[in-house]
Amino acid sequence: MRNNVMKWGPLLLALMIASPLASAQSSLQVVVSFSVIADLVKRVAGDDVSVDVIVPPDEDVHRWELTPPNVLALEEADLVFYNGLQLEPWLRDVQAIVEDDLPMVALAEKADYPALPLTSGRYQGYANPHMWMAPEGAAAYVDVIADTLTEHAPDYADAFDQRAADLKQALDELDAEIDERLGGIPQTNRSLVTSEAGLAYFADAYAFEYDALWGVNHETLGTATAMARLQAMLAEKRPPALFFESTTPKIHMDAQARYADLPLAGPLYVDALSGDDGPATHYADMLRHNAEQLHATLGGAREED
Ligand SMILES: [Zn+2]
Repeated sequence: MRNNVMKWGPLLLALMIASPLASAQSSLQVVVSFSVIADLVKRVAGDDVSVDVIVPPDEDVHRWELTPPNVLALEEADLVFYNGLQLEPWLRDVQAIVEDDLPMVALAEKADYPALPLTSGRYQGYANPHMWMAPEGAAAYVDVIADTLTEHAPDYADAFDQRAADLKQALDELDAEIDERLGGIPQTNRSLVTSEAGLAYFADAYAFEYDALWGVNHETLGTATAMARLQAMLAEKRPPALFFESTTPKIHMDAQARYADLPLAGPLYVDALSGDDGPATHYADMLRHNAEQLHATLGGAREED
């Protein structure tokens, strides 16, 4: 090790002297609550800011215990982005270990995008927290991210602004692409029934009828009352299929599908991106993957038709 330092030391020193100030990263250290909004933050921050994520890809944002690396990152953090609207109930564990004056920004609560109410479950009537699932909702997050980063690292304001504008343009194009991909699904098949009400904003954006077994994941999962309510709805409306999400337990929807004799499709990605070998490694691919799942499952005529 020591030999390596001796060997490379002069070269490293030369590189450090040679690299102009323009390429220096800001000292700002940002921690983001989960993988989906971390992708949006990283796209605005670029290489100018160090970004850590608490809940990694493939893990459920609603249920998390802080790991030692999480704690270390939070101790170094200058700023925390999270979703808010009760999406991350474990945030109280974060608040317990950070300084009282650490800025913590709730993107969904600050975003200029209308909240939809949860329509079932224990939190009925509360704002549904999964606002990022509509590209326009994600774009509203991007505005808050850019403004906040600029406030904390004003020297990089132009770069944040430019990247935010590019990202919003890309989200706009993604919105049109998803709309077109789902456009061929007949009106009678435009039904999206999932475990958790995480796709409400997506369904609203693309004109799908929507229902879910429960509102948000941290309430009691799959209670007898919730199961019976959904069974009655399925018996009455007979949607073409049911869907499950990548981070929710599949057993409840599996039982519903067998009971109602309907196909079960998925996974849809909502509360987490996929790992590197999965189909949803960043925000745009997450929405594209979901659209493909819906297109494959709902796109044609129903089997009995
Ligand atoms: Zn969720």
